[in-house]
Amino acid sequence: MDFEKLRFNGKVRIRLQSEQDVVLNSVGLDIRGIVMDEKPVGFKQTAEELTVQTGAFDGILEINYAGTITDSLVGIYRAPYDHSQIVTTHFEAAQARRMLPCIDHPDAKAEFRIAVKIDKKLTAISNMPVESVVPEGEKKLITFQKTPRMSTYLLYLGIGRFEEQTTKHGTLDVIMATTPGKVKSCEFSQDEATRAIDFFNAYYAIPYALPKIHLIAVPEFAMGAMENWGAITFRESALLIDANSSARVKKRVAEIVDHELAHQWFGNLVTMKWWDDIWLSESFATFMASKVIDSLHPDWKIWEDFMRNETAGALERDCLKRTHPIQVPVRSPDEIEQIFDEISYGKGASILRMIEGYIGKDTFQRGVRQYLSNYAYSNATGNDLWNMLETTSNKKVQTIMSGWIRQPGYPMLTVEANGRELTLRQERFFISNSSEKGAWPMPITLEINGESQSIFMDSTEETIQTQAPISSLRVNLDRTGFYLVRYVGCEDLLWKSKLSPIDQWGIVFDAFAFLLSGRMQFPDYLTLLKRFTSRSEYLPTHEISDQLSFLNTIAQERICDFSKTFHRSQLELIHEKTDENTKVLREALANRLTLVDDLYSKELAANFEKYDTVPPDMKQAVALAYARSIEDYDRLLTAYRNSDSDQDKIRLLTAMTAFKRAALVYQTLDFTLTKEVKRQDTRLVLTTAVGNPDARDITWKWLRENIDKLKERYAGTGTLSGTFLTIIPILGISRIGEVNEFFAHQKIPDAEVGISAGLEKLLAYDRLARTLA
Ligand SMILES: [Zn+2]
Repeated sequence: MDFEKLRFNGKVRIRLQSEQDVVLNSVGLDIRGIVMDEKPVGFKQTAEELTVQTGAFDGILEINYAGTITDSLVGIYRAPYDHSQIVTTHFEAAQARRMLPCIDHPDAKAEFRIAVKIDKKLTAISNMPVESVVPEGEKKLITFQKTPRMSTYLLYLGIGRFEEQTTKHGTLDVIMATTPGKVKSCEFSQDEATRAIDFFNAYYAIPYALPKIHLIAVPEFAMGAMENWGAITFRESALLIDANSSARVKKRVAEIVDHELAHQWFGNLVTMKWWDDIWLSESFATFMASKVIDSLHPDWKIWEDFMRNETAGALERDCLKRTHPIQVPVRSPDEIEQIFDEISYGKGASILRMIEGYIGKDTFQRGVRQYLSNYAYSNATGNDLWNMLETTSNKKVQTIMSGWIRQPGYPMLTVEANGRELTLRQERFFISNSSEKGAWPMPITLEINGESQSIFMDSTEETIQTQAPISSLRVNLDRTGFYLVRYVGCEDLLWKSKLSPIDQWGIVFDAFAFLLSGRMQFPDYLTLLKRFTSRSEYLPTHEISDQLSFLNTIAQERICDFSKTFHRSQLELIHEKTDENTKVLREALANRLTLVDDLYSKELAANFEKYDTVPPDMKQAVALAYARSIEDYDRLLTAYRNSDSDQDKIRLLTAMTAFKRAALVYQTLDFTLTKEVKRQDTRLVLTTAVGNPDARDITWKWLRENIDKLKERYAGTGTLSGTFLTIIPILGISRIGEVNEFFAHQKIPDAEVGISAGLEKLLAYDRLARTLA
C-alpha cells in the first residue's frame, strides 16, 4: 500500500466451489488479472459486479487488482488529523467490495487471512492479532492470524501511527488505539469495555471468541461507532473521555462502547442471514447496552434514558404514514443505509423490552443463550430467535413478534373507566389527527385500585369487570408496552395512582403527541405541565424541557414565559444535588434557559472569560450564553481554533449556531464546509442551527445554496436521510410549498425516505405552529 499516494495493489485468493461462473462484488477496483488453479481466466466487470468465467468450479481463484483510498467515509478511506492521516475501513453494509472483490453478503461467511505491506514506520490493525512481521527493504509485510468464520462487512483494516494501550484481562487483550497523544483519554472506556466483556461472557454463557479486542478512535467517521469483529471503530467523541467531558458524554460513551461489545456476540458470532433482519442485531445491541449499564452503573437509572432516547425516538418516527415495519424487504445498498433508523434501533429495542417483560428476564436470557450457541459462526433469522424464546417460555412469542415486526405503526389505547367497568380500545395512532383501525397482539399491564394485573389483548376492544368500583388506575406500567395511553374522562383516577418516573414520563410524552395531533388543546397541555413545575425528577423534567425547547423553535412568543419559569424553577430545585444524572439534567436545563432568558444569558456569559475553568457540565451553556448575549463570532472562532478537544470544538460550534444575528449563523454554516471542521460534524451544526428560531430563514437559504456540497460530503453513508427527517419539519414551517418544490427536484437516493417522512411531519408541525401563532 502506498500511504502517501493513497493507492494500493491487492491480491485476493479465494477457495470456493461454484456450479456456474463465479460472480463477485467489486466496486471501484481495477481488476488486472485472474488466475484459476494457476491458469489465467477471462472475466467481465460491471459497476458493482465481477463475473469470472470459471464455469463449474472447485478450487482457488486468485485475483490481482488495484484500488484507491478515497476521501469518502465508506469503504477504505483516509481520515485526516492535524497534518497527518490514518487509512481506515468502514464496510457496513455493502462496502467491503470497495477494498476487495468478494461475496459481500452477510451469510457468505468465510475465514480470512489478511496481510498488508506498508512503510516500516507505520503500524496496522485488523480483526485478529499480528502473526508475523517480515521486513522488506523500506517496507514490512504484516500478516494477521486467520479469523474465524465471519461476514465481510465486519472486516477491518487500519493503517497509521497509532498509539496503543493494552490491558490484559485473563487471556484477552483489551487494546485502546488512537492517533498520537490521545490514548490517555481512553481510561474510562477501557474500564467500561473490560467490565462489559465480563458481563457479556456471563450473560451469554459463551466467552468472547477472539484473542484480542481493539477499540479504535478514528478522527473522521460518519457513524458513531462500528462493531467490526475484534477491531471496533469509534468517532473520537464517542470513545475519549477526559476531565473536560460532561456527565452526559460519559453516559453516551459507555452506551456506545457497550452496544458495540454486545454485537461481538449478537451480530458477529451469530449474524443475520440478510439485511432485512438488521433491525434485530441493532435493537438487540441497543437493548443489551442498557442492560449492562444498569448492572455496572445502577445510579444512572439507564432505563429512564432508554425511554427518552430509544422508545421516544421510535414513537415519534413511527406515527407517520411514511414509516416502515421493523422488518422490511431490502434490495439495494441505498435501501439498507436508510433503515439504520429509529425503527431498527429504538422500536426494535422497545419491542424486545416488551417481550422480556412478558416472558420474564431469566427465560429471555435462556432463550438468547440457546440461540447463540445453536447458530455460532453461522447465520440466523429473527424467526429462529422467536422460536427459541417461545420454546423456553411456552408463551405466544411468535404471534406477538410477527404482529409487531411486520405491521408498521403502533396503537393508541383509549381507556374509559365507569364504576366497575373498564373499557380498552386500540387503534393505530398517527401524528395527523386521522386514525386507522388496527389491532396489535399486546401484553397489557395495568393497576386497578393498587392491584396490578396483566392481560393479553389482540382484539380492537376489550372490557374488564372489577370487584370494587375503580378508584385508581394506571395502564402500561413503567411503559413496557410500545403504545400510547389516552385516558378519556378518567384522568383523575390516574393521578390517584402511585406513578413511577417512567410512568410520569409516559403521561407527558403522550400529552405532547396528542397536542401535536390535535387531540389535546394547548391550555390543557399547559395545565398538565404545571403539575410538574414544583418538583424535579430526572426523566419527566428532561422530557418537559425537550418539549419546551421544541415549542420554542416553532412558537417562541407563546411559550417563552412558561419556559423561563419552568427552567428557572427546575434549576433552583436541583441546585444542591451533585449526582451524575443531576449533572446531565442541569446541563440540559441551563442550555435551554440561555435560549429563552436574556438576563440569565447575560449573567452566565461573563464566565466565558475563564472558560477553561468552567465545570464540564456548564461549558455548553456558558458558550451558548456568550453567543446569545455578546454575539462575538470571532472570539468563539478563536476559541474553536485554539481547542484541541473534540468535545470543546463541538460545544463551540453548537454555540456558534445560537447567535441572534442570523447572518452570523450563516457564517458558521459556511465555516463547517472548510477543512477546519470535520466532515462528520457539518450535519450536527446544521441540525442545531435549525433549532435557533432567529436563524430559521437563513438556515433554509444556506441549505438551498449548499445542498450539493452536503450530498457530496455524505454520499453513501445514509446520514442525510436522518438529517432531513430532523430538519425539514422545522425549516419548512410556513413555507410548505416552497420546501416541497425544492426537494421534488433533488435526487438523493440514499435520503429519499428521510425527505418524504420529513415532509409529512412538517404538516403536523406547521399546523401546530399556526394554532399557536
Ligand atoms: Zn449497532
